[in-house]
Amino acid sequence: MNKKILYTDLAIYIFLAITLLIQTSCKSSDDSLNSSNKESKSFFAMDTYITLTAYGEDTDNGLKAAEDEINTLENLWSVTDENSEIYRINHSGGQAVEVSPQTAELLGFSLDMHERTEGAFDITLYPVLTAWGFTTDEYHVPDDEEISALLKNTGVQNISLDDRSVRIPDDMQIDLGAVGKGYAGDLVAQRLKSNGVSSALIDIGGNIQTVGVKPDGEKWTVGIRSPFGEGNFATLEIGECAVVTSGGYERYFVDDGKTYWHILDPKTGKPADSGLASVTVIGSEGKLCDALSTSLFVMGLDKSEKLWKESDDFEMIIVTSDGGIYITEGIENDFVINEELTDTKASVIRR
Ligand code: AMP
Ligand code: MG
Repeated sequence: MNKKILYTDLAIYIFLAITLLIQTSCKSSDDSLNSSNKESKSFFAMDTYITLTAYGEDTDNGLKAAEDEINTLENLWSVTDENSEIYRINHSGGQAVEVSPQTAELLGFSLDMHERTEGAFDITLYPVLTAWGFTTDEYHVPDDEEISALLKNTGVQNISLDDRSVRIPDDMQIDLGAVGKGYAGDLVAQRLKSNGVSSALIDIGGNIQTVGVKPDGEKWTVGIRSPFGEGNFATLEIGECAVVTSGGYERYFVDDGKTYWHILDPKTGKPADSGLASVTVIGSEGKLCDALSTSLFVMGLDKSEKLWKESDDFEMIIVTSDGGIYITEGIENDFVINEELTDTKASVIRR
């Protein structure tokens, strides 16, 4: 067996580092606040580290409701928990399964995103991800025959969704890992708002979602992580929105000198090889940003640019494998590359 390096723990540390970096980058104006006006909650759920920070008076109820919401969603969408709705769908033997409104909404959205991204977004890849070891951490490079056999049982066109009734073929398995955290961000933001919180920062494993602006009325500053090493390469000023990044560096293994990452091209069943190192999507909907960051990573720069030009609901920051930085014009005035990267400039994609 070739030398393998397992990076799961590293991924966890990276998530922690992102959390810390984002908190650091938001720190300057927090200093002007009375600490009693800020409350944070950190916990592990949905397979990642989560930090919820709410500002203002009476944030307790909002934070509690937000944590409850995340735990509820984890119980619905866990692929391994025998009581989850996703588990029940995956083990239904081809029978229809009645699901909650949240699961039905996210499944319907995922089917739409498959179409919008011309197949790059595909929630039926779970068995292929398992063959690579990305679901078990027992990494291994499957041979082409194994991949082609598994790909025969993928494809969202075989999922039927009728209101809250879902049916998938017996030999198919689905996973909402590429979109669930983003949708959780949307639902958590709603929970915080309905409990009277008007300023909050939600960090779900590096996916950022905000409620309102900072309590001093200024925009939030979030760090954009470098896909090539520790730390951020840039910052972005945002109002109320979601900022979600996908990249090969988040979960990968090296076998015989070659790096294999967790985002697969549904056409090949192999790690997406589109020349990108990371994609950050910015928009008002967490679920859209999450689904798009994963699928634009599969689609590559040119197709991402085309999709952006046809759309009006997101902006993006793309880092190519050779270190190029591309941003869309909607965030041009809010995006700043770190001072020490003196010769690095972003190319602005315009309509
Ligand atoms: P994210 O971190 O949001 O980019 O999601 C990546 C996760 O989504 C992976 O770890 C897989 O579980 C799953 N995944 C991988 N490739 C795809 C794809 N092409 N479409 C949808 N989900 C995927
Ligand atoms: Mg995603």
